[in-house]
Amino acid sequence: MSSLAMLGGSPVITKPLPGYRSIGPDEQKAVLRVMETGSLSGFYGSWDDQFFGGTEVKALEKEWSERFGCKYAISVNSNTSGLCAAMGAIGVSPGDEVIVSPYTMSATAMAPLFYGGIPIFADIDPATFCMSPEDAREKITPRTKAILVTNLFGQAAELHELRQICEDNNIFLVEDAAQSPNAYERGKHSGTIGDIGVYSLNYHKHIHSGEGGICVTNDPHLARRMQMIRNHAEAVAEASGETDLTNLVGYNFRMTELSAAVARTQLKNINQHVAPRVQIAEALTKTASEIDFLTPPYVKDGCNHVYYVWAAKFNQNIAGIPRDLFSKALTAEGFPHFQGYLRPLYKLPLFQQKIAIGRNGFPFNLHDTNYNEVLCPVAEDMHYNQLIGFEPCAFSLVTSDIQKLQDALQKVASNIDDLREYYHSVLQEGSPQK
Ligand SMILES: *Cc1c(COP(=O)(O)O)cnc(C)c1O
Repeated sequence: MSSLAMLGGSPVITKPLPGYRSIGPDEQKAVLRVMETGSLSGFYGSWDDQFFGGTEVKALEKEWSERFGCKYAISVNSNTSGLCAAMGAIGVSPGDEVIVSPYTMSATAMAPLFYGGIPIFADIDPATFCMSPEDAREKITPRTKAILVTNLFGQAAELHELRQICEDNNIFLVEDAAQSPNAYERGKHSGTIGDIGVYSLNYHKHIHSGEGGICVTNDPHLARRMQMIRNHAEAVAEASGETDLTNLVGYNFRMTELSAAVARTQLKNINQHVAPRVQIAEALTKTASEIDFLTPPYVKDGCNHVYYVWAAKFNQNIAGIPRDLFSKALTAEGFPHFQGYLRPLYKLPLFQQKIAIGRNGFPFNLHDTNYNEVLCPVAEDMHYNQLIGFEPCAFSLVTSDIQKLQDALQKVASNIDDLREYYHSVLQEGSPQK
């Protein structure tokens, strides 16, 4: 009998790994500091000093811009809101095309839709899983307004190359940096290389305030427009002196003083929050690099990786079993992970049926798009066949826990012959008797 837990042996990891918790006494103090003022939001929707938020919000924005080396930081209540504000600020209009990756969280591709823009999907690079600059370039048409790129899993996309493409074509580069605070490319922080970058402060991200987001830019006009969209733009357009009324339809994306106070504390300790995730990922990489059917995450030259997700590639031909069986064996050993990531976004019913805003197909009815084909074969191959992921951000692990993860991975790899045998015996049983 095999020692694999799936085939009757005992698992390597016998109890659930400890979940991540980063809220401590400093965050509690920060919240109390706000509670004592009695003022839980400093925003006011008219054109005066309070239009820009309260003490904590303003301090967070100042600290954020200093930390990441950019001129303006605009806090919002989520990355999703921030992406929406960014699309509004750059002037996305009905029928405009915005190039996105299909392999990202769905909010990225929704952002253009809020203004009637059309998400155009460019395929990913099979090494980094981020948008392929070559494919992005091919997708540019006279109607392209922007490239909205995701720094997926915690590594900068090909930002400098994409920026060049955008400059050559006179379009905007916007970064979804939800997963990549502290990741850089050629010495510059991800999020600050495009015209606008948007970070997330939701509970699952590297640093958080429950919910929240931050937009950054070096452009004073884009900064002002995002501040306006965040806070009832239409009511202050006149007083502010802004003459371009495009998309100055305001939302309420304002961050509370409580969230800002928590976010400031988390930001101060960002290195301590990110480092353990990198440590876990590097340990897994060390083990995976000795396994012939796994390719650990690729880190580009001149970049680092902050590992919101540790994503390895599984080679079915070398392993001799399907990914699903490998995954079952890992699960039986108590190794938490997922197969693929999120389905390529054009598979969502919204795209398949072309129903987004209203019931008549807007904005897709302005455009000749087809989302029913295999638009991005690399993304599909990664999702359906190759990718195995682990979420370092979800756990708080000590060295012995990390060792157990490595042991579990190693154990399944060492017993791969047993899995092959099992796989063939199941196939045999499944086939018609001769
Ligand atoms: C988490 C995430 C978002 C959404 O962030 P919220 O702050 O929850 O709105 C958007 N894009 C990516 C890539 C994400 O990982």
